[in-house]
Amino acid sequence: MKIKHIDHIGIAVKSIEEGGKFFIDKLGLKLEKIETVEDQKVKTGFFPITDSELELLESIAPDGPVAKYIDSRGEGVQHIAFRVENIDEALKELKEKGVRLIDQEPRIGAGGARIAFIHPKETHGVLVELCEK
Ligand code: ZN
Repeated sequence: MKIKHIDHIGIAVKSIEEGGKFFIDKLGLKLEKIETVEDQKVKTGFFPITDSELELLESIAPDGPVAKYIDSRGEGVQHIAFRVENIDEALKELKEKGVRLIDQEPRIGAGGARIAFIHPKETHGVLVELCEK
């Protein structure tokens, strides 16, 4: 498996509008686009930084994964996403190594990327997303 770079860091916020103010007003980042991923019950706001992005995540349903995350741990870094060259190969390799996965097969995430999550029990508590774009 070839990890190319950190694609984005996902931050769970109660509101993209409120949460984004700091990154826009104080750090000078630009909110590129807001997109809803119904499947994940989440609205995402992307702030590009050269080859990486911050992804602010706002839940659109009280039972969504981001709402649950905020309920139990508060706002904050929710996941880290690594860009891989080939997500099918990466998942195959991880399965062969006995790594527990949340997604056995890639699914479509924000921006049409093919994504899959590794189980946080494998990664010392960090939710890791693999993505191919
Ligand atoms: Zn993500």
